[in-house]
Amino acid sequence: MFGSHLSVAGGLYKAVVEAQVEGLQTVQIFTRNQQQWASPPLLPEVIRQFRDEVIKAKFSCVVAHDSYLTNLAASNEDLRQKSIQSFALELKRCHALGIQYLVTHTGAHGGAGEAEGISRIVASLQQVLERDPHGSTMICLETTAGQGTSLGWRFEQLRDIFTGVRNASRLGVCLDTCHIFAAGYDVSTPDGAAQSFEEFDRIIGFDRLRVMHLNDSRKPLGSRVDRHAHIGRGMIGLAAFRYVCQNPAFKKIPKIMETPKEIAPDGRPWDLINLEILQALERGQEPVIAPMEPAPLAPVRRRTGAGKPIKNKRAKK
Ligand code: FE
Ligand code: FE
Ligand code: ZN
Repeated sequence: MFGSHLSVAGGLYKAVVEAQVEGLQTVQIFTRNQQQWASPPLLPEVIRQFRDEVIKAKFSCVVAHDSYLTNLAASNEDLRQKSIQSFALELKRCHALGIQYLVTHTGAHGGAGEAEGISRIVASLQQVLERDPHGSTMICLETTAGQGTSLGWRFEQLRDIFTGVRNASRLGVCLDTCHIFAAGYDVSTPDGAAQSFEEFDRIIGFDRLRVMHLNDSRKPLGSRVDRHAHIGRGMIGLAAFRYVCQNPAFKKIPKIMETPKEIAPDGRPWDLINLEILQALERGQEPVIAPMEPAPLAPVRRRTGAGKPIKNKRAKK
């Protein structure tokens, strides 16, 4: 099941509309401004419109990504409490919208150390779950690139969080291919991809794997820097995506492209180009990664002094 992280400009339901236009089966959104603490109240009309559009689209699930400000590992107690409050509220918003998965980064320890950070995350998640005991939305902890002091870049760290939280049944994982590669898991070769996913299964377990983010990486293996690239056009290449798309165990997992939402030089949205590659891999075909140059110029009739048509406009395709 493929999806994309799409903009909610003009209304939350607009992302679901756009996902259908792109031929996707799911979508990921920010339900609020991801750079602000405050979230405006969800109006009943907004909820209804969103739910109606999801039904119309026949999407079996929808994913939300939490604010980037949340830091459940914060050593500053004010910031940690603010994060807990904001995250619990986001869980409630997702529940109201009928969103199945809320993806979040685990947070950064800020120098307090890994063990201290993990115990704070465990305590924070415990509090979040206590504040929202009847919610239906699953919290998906995202594998991170391990930038700075952020946690969740080693599978062991996520495992320790799961074993620490008392009622962990509402906790899952979102695996981001770009992030695990930047964190040092070499998914750029067939053997490396198989080994990395085996390691994930051994340490965390595939039963926890609920969402995937399919992104190539602009930064090298182990760089601990998070920069997304288009599928097959970064330092990962196709091996990881072939492994994921051809594995029947992952078929029903929402696989979200968080690749840049731009128009490619050939005039098509990058999402469509990336999606075609993923779908080809899923069918067991070898996609061609075409070099991306501007589309050839097509002849267009324009009066010149000599009355001859000249070539001056881009072709449709
Ligand atoms: Fe993320
Ligand atoms: Fe991601
Ligand atoms: Zn990222």
